[in-house]
Amino acid sequence: MIHQRHTGRFLCGTHLIADMEQRVSETIVSRQQIVPGDCVAVGLSGGKDSTALLLLLHHLFGSRNDIRLVAVTVDEGIDGYREATARSAEGLVRRLGVTHITVSFGELFGDTLDTILKGHKTQACSICGILRKKALVTGAERAGATKLATGHNLDDEAQSVLMNVLRGDLMRLVRNSGADSGGRFIPRVKPLMYVQEKEIATYLMVQGVWEDLPECPYAIHALRREVRSMLSELEYRHPGTMLRLLENKKKIETAFSGNTGGEPVGRCRECGDPCSGRTCQLCRIRHSLLH
Ligand code: SF4
Ligand code: ZN
Repeated sequence: MIHQRHTGRFLCGTHLIADMEQRVSETIVSRQQIVPGDCVAVGLSGGKDSTALLLLLHHLFGSRNDIRLVAVTVDEGIDGYREATARSAEGLVRRLGVTHITVSFGELFGDTLDTILKGHKTQACSICGILRKKALVTGAERAGATKLATGHNLDDEAQSVLMNVLRGDLMRLVRNSGADSGGRFIPRVKPLMYVQEKEIATYLMVQGVWEDLPECPYAIHALRREVRSMLSELEYRHPGTMLRLLENKKKIETAFSGNTGGEPVGRCRECGDPCSGRTCQLCRIRHSLLH
């Protein structure tokens, strides 16, 4: 089913599933990212990464009484896109019997993303990313979660490292390790961080749950799109490139552990969330774009 170019192995469907379950288990169980007593909020957009994430976590923990899973879906209000993925998310949680919480931008910020972005489409992902993070943490808090799991895969992580380099903001890598919303700090875990996007797609096909869903219409404006295609080509020609980028992130985190590169992390004077200036990015968006 798949040629794992960085290991040189050719895997059939059965071995791909076993390999993914083992890697995810190593990432979160061996490193004690999820432990007995945890309630894990699983970010579930309904897209392929989060679908695979919930399937894998349900396989690992679904029958355990000491670990609880709650799916959290953020409805940004993106016409023609979110409806299809939300339907897919709804079908999955019903099939697995997992509790499901939905938080919408309309409820939280008073407007849909479509309305908020009028005239600001080129900044769509930076604005949406900040609002989405807040909505996800709000859902996790409502679930009483002790951990927040997101479906970021190896491609996403490697792209982020490269994007931070290109934007001249490498220190951002050492600032984004948790989800704090003024009150409780909910550690964030990324069980798929060592799994490539194409492995996730193949895993879903093998499991018979692949759905051809629409892409977010705003993604076309993102720098990430260009970085993604460049990195895929590099990975193809030089297998292991993405893993090596991730290793660099780890080295930087270790070298700067506890140090935020001269930018003291304080609290936003308006909402109390952690931030490096006087006002956090969310409050700045609130002032400029929200009514
Ligand atoms: Fe938001 Fe960008 Fe993701 Fe669309 S692609 S949901 S705008 S972060
Ligand atoms: Zn704030």
